[in-house]
Amino acid sequence: MEKREELYAGKAKSVYKTDNPDYLVLEFRDDTSAFDGQKVEKLARKGMVNNHFNVFIMNKLAEAGIPTHVEKLLSDNECLVKNMKMIPVECVVRNIAAGSLVRRLGVTEGQDLNPPTFELFLKNDALHDPMVNESLVETFGWATPDQLAKMKALTFKVNSVLKKLFLDAGMLLVDYKLEFGVFKGEVVLGDEFSPDGCRLWDAKTREKLDKDRFRQGLGGVVEAYEEVARRLGMRLPG
Ligand code: C5P
Repeated sequence: MEKREELYAGKAKSVYKTDNPDYLVLEFRDDTSAFDGQKVEKLARKGMVNNHFNVFIMNKLAEAGIPTHVEKLLSDNECLVKNMKMIPVECVVRNIAAGSLVRRLGVTEGQDLNPPTFELFLKNDALHDPMVNESLVETFGWATPDQLAKMKALTFKVNSVLKKLFLDAGMLLVDYKLEFGVFKGEVVLGDEFSPDGCRLWDAKTREKLDKDRFRQGLGGVVEAYEEVARRLGMRLPG
């Protein structure tokens, strides 16, 4: 498939058309952003690490029966994906309290969440991705009740697959954000799964191995992502 003109540039990824309208090329850049794009830096190797990471995780999810948009790895920074109509709602599952949950509810960071929580946020940087609920999603037509039920079921299925995958590699999957789209009538997992969009802690020391290192200025961001990849048995170039 031939890569054609750029369709859209997001904060960390760019999307290109191909000669087939059903497929797009997703390019992972080194740009790293936090706080709705207020903190932005280029981190060498991050695009390559996240691209390989995402394809690795999406393949594991596909093996478990979860439909994903990833078709194949194209290069160190690019993969081929399905051209979906994106649903503008982020699904967040939390196994352990951290981040905005701690800030909003004043609960203790590190507290186990039983059962895991499920939250919805509207994708809108200008409004700082406000929290929404199922009623708002339905009323404003961001997704149908049926699509939302599928998104929720798939988001929890991802939890059962990935909690074990990370724990077996000595890490706790604290929380993560997923985005979905519709491809030929089916709800499909889109966007990316990488340490940019989840929290991963070392299971023993609870050291942070995810984007909180960037948000909190802890340093060693890409080194931590590469450590996670190494523990999962991934082989990264260079
Ligand atoms: O900030 P908060 O605690 O709500 O984030 C929950 C999870 O969702 C974290 O893993 C975070 O990295 C991810 N997230 C994201 N993109 C956003 C909001 C949250 O990847 N816009």
